[in-house]
Amino acid sequence: MTVRGDGSHHVQTLHEPIGVAGQIIPWNFPLLMLSWKLGPALACGNTVVLKTAEQTPLSALLVGRLLHEAGLPEGVVNIVSGFGPTAGAAIASHMDIDKVAFTGSTDVGKIILELASKSNLKAVTLELGGKSPFIVCEDADVDQAVEMAHFALFFNQGQCCCAGSRTFVHERVYDEFVEKAKARAINRAVGDPFKSGIEQGPQVDSEQFEKILKYIRHGVDSGATLQAGGDRHGSKGYYIQPTVFSDVKDDMLIAKDEIFGPVQTILKFKNLDEVIARANNSRYGLAAGVFTQNLDTANRLMRALRVGSVWINCFDVFDATIPFGGYKMSGIGREKGIYSLNNYLQVKAVVTSIKNPAWL
Ligand code: NAP
Ligand code: MG
Repeated sequence: MTVRGDGSHHVQTLHEPIGVAGQIIPWNFPLLMLSWKLGPALACGNTVVLKTAEQTPLSALLVGRLLHEAGLPEGVVNIVSGFGPTAGAAIASHMDIDKVAFTGSTDVGKIILELASKSNLKAVTLELGGKSPFIVCEDADVDQAVEMAHFALFFNQGQCCCAGSRTFVHERVYDEFVEKAKARAINRAVGDPFKSGIEQGPQVDSEQFEKILKYIRHGVDSGATLQAGGDRHGSKGYYIQPTVFSDVKDDMLIAKDEIFGPVQTILKFKNLDEVIARANNSRYGLAAGVFTQNLDTANRLMRALRVGSVWINCFDVFDATIPFGGYKMSGIGREKGIYSLNNYLQVKAVVTSIKNPAWL
C-alpha cells in the first residue's frame, strides 16, 4: 500500500507474515477451532505449530495427513498432540515462536499472556470464556424466543464459549416463558449422538460431568427453582438431563460462572436500563442475544452491551466472514473475516527519499 508522506519522501507499507504462529485449541469444536486458526495464518504466509486439546487429538491429525497429501510443503503446518502445561506452555514461551493464538478458559488465557511476556513478548490473541446474556423483551414472540434461547444454551451439550447462559426475561412474559422453556427442555432427546433424532449427547469427560453436576447442586442449595432435569441422565456415560432453573438471582454462582453444560438459568427483569446494567455486570463480554420486534429497543441494546457479538432475533450465526471475539475477560483480538488477518501480519513502513520532490 502507498501512503501520502511529507512531500519529499515516497512512503509505502509492506504487509509481511509474522513468522511462526503457535496455536492452542480446546476440545469443544475440534475441527472448527482448527479451521479458524489455520485459515488466516496460512493465508498470510505464516508457518504454524498447533496443539490440540488432550481430549480431541484425532481430527487434527487427519487434517495434517490431508494437508500433506494435498502437497503443502513439509514444516508449514506442524500438529502437536501434547498436554497443556508441557507442550502448550512450550509454545507460549518459545523464543522462536512469533505469535500465539489461544482458545480456551480465561484462567489458562492468563497463563499464556504471562508466558509470552516472560519470554519474547510474542503477539497474543485470546478467545476465552463467557457468560452471555440472552435478553427476551416484553414484545418478543415468546414461542420463537423459547426455541432460540433453548438452542443458544443447549447446543453442543452447552459446551460453547458463547452459550446464552443467562436468560433474562421481561416480567410481563416471564411466567409463560418459564413454562414453555421447561416443556422444551423436558422434550429434548438425550442419548447416543450417532442415532438420528438425538439432540444431546454426553459431556466431553468425567471432569466436566462432575463439575456441571456440582453447579446444579449449587443452584438448588442457593434457592433457585429447579424446573427441569437436575441430575445425570441414565446410569451410564457422562449424560446430563437438560436442566432449567428459574428465579435465578445475579449473585448466585450459577449466574456468574461459566458452567459449560446443559443448564439454563432464567432471570426476571423489569426494564431496559436494569437489564443493560445487569447484563454488563460480568467479568466476561463475549456475546449476547436480543429478542424484540422493536427496532429502537434492538438498536439501544446492541450499542449498550459490552460484548463482541450481538445476535438480534437469532443466535450462534457463524459465517466465516463475521468477526468473533470478546470484550473484557472474554479475550483479546478477533478471529474470522478480514479482521483475523491483522493477527497474522506485521506492517513494515518503508520510506524512500525522493531526490527531486518535483517528480511527485
Ligand atoms: P483449557 O484448560 O483452557 O484448555 C484449552 C487448551 O489449552 C488445551 O489445548 C489445553 O491443553 C491447553 N492448556 C491447558 N493448560 C495450559 C498451560 N498451562 N499452558 C498452555 N496451554 C495449556 O480448557 P479445558 O481444560 O479444555 O476446559 C476447562 C474450561 O475451559 C471449560 O470448563 C470451559 O469453561 C473453558 N473452555 C472454553 C472454551 C472456549 O471456546 N472459550 C473451550 C473449551 C473450554 P490440554 O487439553 O492438554 O489440557
Ligand atoms: Mg485440559
